Amino acid sequence: MFGPPGSGKGTQSVTLAEKYNCLHLSTGDMLRAELAAGTELGKRMEKIMAAGELVPDDVVIAMIANKIDSTRGKAGFIFDGFPRTVEQAVALQNMLKERNMKIDQMLVLEVSDVELTDRMKKRALISGRADDADPAVINNRIEVYRSKTAPVIEFGRKEGVHHNINGMGTVEEIFRRLCDQIDRII
Ligand code: ADP
Repeated sequence: MFGPPGSGKGTQSVTLAEKYNCLHLSTGDMLRAELAAGTELGKRMEKIMAAGELVPDDVVIAMIANKIDSTRGKAGFIFDGFPRTVEQAVALQNMLKERNMKIDQMLVLEVSDVELTDRMKKRALISGRADDADPAVINNRIEVYRSKTAPVIEFGRKEGVHHNINGMGTVEEIFRRLCDQIDRII
């Protein structure tokens, strides 16, 4: 599941994982769990996340590698918020290859900037996330998405797995669009 911050990746991934019996892996959630638990890693990542910057590639790659083998009994994975750089995408592809798996689809949620900012401001009221509360940090996250994460779309295109999904509308409408695309390959 791919898209800018606030595009609905997390919301949609949770329901999709239930419907398709997949494991939902969100690097954002994993990092926030480290922060909440007060681990050394969490402490090191706190400032980076609060500023809306990306944590180092090796940190998230190691996190995903650790989780990837807990898939027993599940049909696959939904990655949410990962990969966020081309380096992470290449690492993911290699990890999957080593285990005779592959990236089936990259679903890119498309949402206007105005709508993104609006959704994150609303989410800040309930999420308690510091990175949602500050407009300057929201803007930086969108900027980081453009410069570092959006190039992953080109990677997906080259691999022939990329699909654009209209991310505007109700949660149910977007869910249906995502399911229609997923159902094409299963
Ligand atoms: P959102 O997509 O709404 O911005 P996430 O929960 O996916 O939120 O991520 C929150 C923060 O966690 C990011 O701004 C970044 O600092 C860090 N993060 C999450 N995933 C990654 C990743 N794959 N690579 C680097 N940093 C990440």
